Amino acid sequence: MTTPAWATELVAMVSADARVAQPQLSWRRRSGDHSTGVTRRHDGMIAVRAGTDEVDQRLTLLHELAHWLSPVPRPGRRVVHHGRAFYEVAFELYRRHGLADADALRLESARYRSSLRHAAALGVPGAVAALAAHRSSIRARPRRRWRILVPEHRIVLERDGRWTVCVTCRQRVIGINLARIRRSRRPVRHVLMTAAAS
Ligand SMILES: [Zn+2]
Ligand SMILES: [Zn+2]
Repeated sequence: MTTPAWATELVAMVSADARVAQPQLSWRRRSGDHSTGVTRRHDGMIAVRAGTDEVDQRLTLLHELAHWLSPVPRPGRRVVHHGRAFYEVAFELYRRHGLADADALRLESARYRSSLRHAAALGVPGAVAALAAHRSSIRARPRRRWRILVPEHRIVLERDGRWTVCVTCRQRVIGINLARIRRSRRPVRHVLMTAAAS
């Protein structure tokens, strides 16, 4: 498909504002809402595979343009691809080129969770609240609790069809555990645990 006019214009405008050479833009379709993008600096190219959501298309292109504008790392220096310096450029572009802060936070954090932390530090409106909401949803998530199903007991082996099982808890004993228990002169004990959502 041909590149939409707004995308070509956006590449030209962002490059001119930053006084950098324009990248070539390759634009293709993909199925689904979300878009994906990649910046190939050595080829002078940004490639976008555009999903159906137009706000997400715009954010994806701006995200790649932020990579295009980010300074080239000096040889031997480690740079964080999606670190604070990157997000300083990216959130500025999102705001300047027509994305609402709420959309930028929602779509960017769907890709990279860590973007919320950077956005909060950069003072993007709504980021502190979004980060707090994300953290409390993590805390509210049920954890697995381990519960004792059969208390600790000595393992006594018994054949059960093609398996060897513990007489008390009927747990299968296999592989190196089986070899170890058979070899051991002292009784081997175990306990049967089960996971339950608390
Ligand atoms: Zn990126
Ligand atoms: Zn047992």
